[in-house]
Amino acid sequence: MKIACAAFALLLAAFPALAQNVKITPIGSHRGELCANDRAMIFEDPTGVRFLYDAGPTVTGGNDPRLGTIHLVLLSHMHGDHVGDLKLKAPGEGTCANSMRVPAPNSTTAEVVAAKNAVMVTTRAMAAFVHNKVDAIHGSGSKPMDFCPTLAVTVPVPAACSSRIDMGGVFTARADGARQGVEFTIVYSAHVNDVAPSLLTKAQQDLLKADGAQLGYGPPVGFVVKFTNGLGAYLSSDTAVFGDMKTVISDFHKASLAVINLGPNPGLFQSGAYAINDLIRPASVIFTHVNEAATEGGKLKANTQTAALMKQVKAPAYLAISERTMGFDGKGKCVSGC
Ligand SMILES: [Zn+2]
Ligand SMILES: [Zn+2]
Repeated sequence: MKIACAAFALLLAAFPALAQNVKITPIGSHRGELCANDRAMIFEDPTGVRFLYDAGPTVTGGNDPRLGTIHLVLLSHMHGDHVGDLKLKAPGEGTCANSMRVPAPNSTTAEVVAAKNAVMVTTRAMAAFVHNKVDAIHGSGSKPMDFCPTLAVTVPVPAACSSRIDMGGVFTARADGARQGVEFTIVYSAHVNDVAPSLLTKAQQDLLKADGAQLGYGPPVGFVVKFTNGLGAYLSSDTAVFGDMKTVISDFHKASLAVINLGPNPGLFQSGAYAINDLIRPASVIFTHVNEAATEGGKLKANTQTAALMKQVKAPAYLAISERTMGFDGKGKCVSGC
């Protein structure tokens, strides 16, 4: 027995990477593809901390069986395709270019937070919106959702709560029994934060309509997540190219993995190569939020904007293929599933 234990310890010492990788699994509309509406991604730290980044419209709701254990939910901004004003009817329904979605009046974000008793990691302005929706799901008489008592929690938490941080704020989630926690920092995103109108009360919708107005929930955000294996991941959300990508995200946080949202509005199809090659300079890149059917049979389609950008990026770039799990080591190198 002693010899077996010693041999096992030696084995672990020789292959520390075995248990030290961060697992990333996109949850999109069509298994094995990267589709137009795909947003949600699950991250799992080696210590077991699991979180969902932007629930969006490609989960079927809080009880989507593909989610599994979720300790925290990150929310970047209030656009319907991120907070989730629609949810996927069923995996594989509709086309890759236009997945079949149905209304989610409480938002998929609140549905997942409520179903999983999860921690909401977002700004205070957006958290307040989610609190209301989670309370609506729980029904009257239940204890209202509130901020977590501290900025460092052990997961799972006893009841859903939110992070009480804003730009630059740091929140830590540690697995029970783990020595170290996963650290979330909110960073800038050069975008807007108008809420999807269908998630508001009818009275508020009418009020806004009368003035042709949009309702914003403070600044939209991205995240830098530091995992316990040393990996620093930059989750860009929807953003234009901006200077912090070099100073804050690369120089200060030293993010070695960049998860980049593409799509036509913030212009990353045009500016993405400069943003990634010259400003963020990561060891690896994952592309998501492509707003086009980027793959067919799991292979990148040649005449897509995603393919055009891939050719210009120097670091190894991977597609967020739905339900494919990628493993990343502490230096941002993909070691499995890519
Ligand atoms: Zn957006
Ligand atoms: Zn978006």
